[in-house]
Amino acid sequence: MYPEILRRPTREVKVGSIGIGGSNPVRVQSMTNTPTWDIDKTLFQIRALVDAGCEIVRVAVPDEKSAEALKTIVKESPVPIIADLHFATSLGKKAIEAGCAGIRINPGTFKNRKNLDELVELCKEKGVCIRIGINAGSLETEVLEKYKVPDYRAMVESALRWVSYIETKFKYYNIKVSLKSSNWWETVRAYEEFSRYSDVPLHLGVTEAGGLIPGTIKNTMAISCLLMEGIGDTIRVSLTADPVEEVYVAYEILKNLGLRTLYPDIVSCPTCGRCEIDLMELYKKVESIVRNLKADVKIAVMGCVVNGPGEAKHADIGITGGKGVGFIFKKGKVVKKVKEEDLLKCFVEELKEFLKQHPERVFDQRSLSLLDEKLV
Ligand code: SF4
Repeated sequence: MYPEILRRPTREVKVGSIGIGGSNPVRVQSMTNTPTWDIDKTLFQIRALVDAGCEIVRVAVPDEKSAEALKTIVKESPVPIIADLHFATSLGKKAIEAGCAGIRINPGTFKNRKNLDELVELCKEKGVCIRIGINAGSLETEVLEKYKVPDYRAMVESALRWVSYIETKFKYYNIKVSLKSSNWWETVRAYEEFSRYSDVPLHLGVTEAGGLIPGTIKNTMAISCLLMEGIGDTIRVSLTADPVEEVYVAYEILKNLGLRTLYPDIVSCPTCGRCEIDLMELYKKVESIVRNLKADVKIAVMGCVVNGPGEAKHADIGITGGKGVGFIFKKGKVVKKVKEEDLLKCFVEELKEFLKQHPERVFDQRSLSLLDEKLV
């Protein structure tokens, strides 16, 4: 059972071929952390992100050689590329000329309005999506003077001003907005408030969220809170970690809200005095085997055969063991007893058999072959 979510209606915008807002699913995006000018490394990371399910990738464009590299990166990337810009309009123009499908700007950082105007004109001409990225740490002076502190009200006013500026002056509507703070609650309030006044699609995220564990928690709190209210059209879980982890966390959030499923749901028990196997080790192995499996299947990894299958009877397939033997169970019933050393091999065979019987649950047939590779 999942929460009933009524998504807030937003206009549809396009980042290249990817629709955001409207009736599109919540899109998953991430950002590379390689030097953009290093084309091979950046493309390698983009492909890893796409393999994990990332639909749009953002890259930083801090200098001329990075802008130059975009020509090749855009051409070879399997998904649309967004250029992340700060201050330098000339780099933005180069990124657009290189074929980037979107740019992310913080208009408050443009000291010269003429430079911003030129960039917006070019985006309009090429159909490039503009993300107005409002950040609590870099609001424009007028807004800060009015509110004294960079709180959610200041962020919302800044965002609304820039949306209105681009829509009114340029009649350009292919825009989306983010309102990020490193405080998750301030972030939630900013998005809630903004969505009362505008139908512009929203890119959700918490900035400077931290490493894998604290960052996942902060992001999950803010993003889930908003998505449950129907707010949010695309998400980026920002983490001080391998960006591929951001994509896995994003899908974990979406899956648990019943919004999108790409990967198996793995459930496991916390273990107790009845456990007779090294469950943590078994869990790690199962997780690594199914990590890239793109299928809707619930897998249980449990600590004992006495209670495990019953406790996890909602799982499609489960695995447990004890005293040198292993068991595979389905929907709470033990279906195989094998030697402990054959347990994982048997689990993979049974999982493949289950998915063969439920082809509608498999999103990517190629990912099935990865199951055997992980066993070797
Ligand atoms: S499945 Fe077994 S080991 Fe795990 S918590 Fe339940 S009783 Fe304990």
